[in-house]
Amino acid sequence: MCNMRVAALMVGVCVTAHAAETMRIAVGPEVGEVSLSGKALSCGDDVDDAEFVALQQDALVLRKKGQALWLDDAALPVEAIRCRSANDGPMRVNGVNVQGDVVVMRGKAQLVVVNVLPLESYLQGVLGSEMPKTFPIEALKAQAVAARTYALNKKLEQYGQPFHLGSSVISQVYKGLEADDPRTREAIDQTRGQVLTWQLQPIEAYFHASCGGHTESGLDALGRDLPYLKSVPCPCSKLATSHWTLKVAPKELHPVAGGKASGLQVQGRSPTGRVRRVQVGARSVDAVSFRERLGYMRLKSLDFEVTSEAKDGWVLKGHGFGHGAGLCQWGSRLLADTGKDYRAILEHYYPGTELQVLYE
Ligand SMILES: [Zn+2]
Repeated sequence: MCNMRVAALMVGVCVTAHAAETMRIAVGPEVGEVSLSGKALSCGDDVDDAEFVALQQDALVLRKKGQALWLDDAALPVEAIRCRSANDGPMRVNGVNVQGDVVVMRGKAQLVVVNVLPLESYLQGVLGSEMPKTFPIEALKAQAVAARTYALNKKLEQYGQPFHLGSSVISQVYKGLEADDPRTREAIDQTRGQVLTWQLQPIEAYFHASCGGHTESGLDALGRDLPYLKSVPCPCSKLATSHWTLKVAPKELHPVAGGKASGLQVQGRSPTGRVRRVQVGARSVDAVSFRERLGYMRLKSLDFEVTSEAKDGWVLKGHGFGHGAGLCQWGSRLLADTGKDYRAILEHYYPGTELQVLYE
């Protein structure tokens, strides 16, 4: 059942427990051809109460030809088709194993693949991709609540759209059934239906790998000025993995500088010390764009110093991995190791929020 206090403000979404639990996740980018396999596939319209027609086949191929959607050798009179395996069994779509239904629809240029599945099943495909499965159970439970809350918030934001979330690091990493694991399943089951709320709405529950010692405010990290995304201290700075060194060659910076990159200097910092702007050659660049240009995996965070300047480039020394807002995953691990439960971890990283049971 919906929690009525929350349901009152989730107009149109929390009409029934089933509606609240279903997510639509885009699997991969648009593609020209979709291969789908399962057991005794059946297909129907892309609506929750559609009547499905048994196709008496275990595999099919969908293509876009002109403006039409084709199933094997037949043009379909619809823009989208929804398929499932017998007894809601697993399916494989373009190399990804999933549970739930698969929708294939016409996209802007090619075909969009959308996995429609219960929120709790979706979390099984997220949790093992977003946090090491070996982390303490209370850290995994905190991550489960954060991921569930993030997903519901996005669902509200994207309500009525063809899908609510993508499957890459830009949304939450979703790897279908491959990420499923007994420990992550336990963390999801033990927190079933629990979401973090602020004024009865699911919060924007951002999270990141490691903050380096202080989380960043939502405003400074992501331009989201939210009362529960404040900078808080974090124990992760004691971990060796929180500290990194990056060597940057001048030629890497030429495209950023729009010419010869003769210098690299920090121009401004946020109150937590993260870089806001950098001077690259003759050009002043926003630090978030600078990190994007260098690559999120290379320049791991904006908490860095430019420590040396030589002919062959610069050495950056920094702390943390990620944007730094909200829950710090490595910090959660350390807090769990000192006996904090998932509620205390969530209260630490999202101060002032309330944990609510949306459904049981
Ligand atoms: Zn941290």
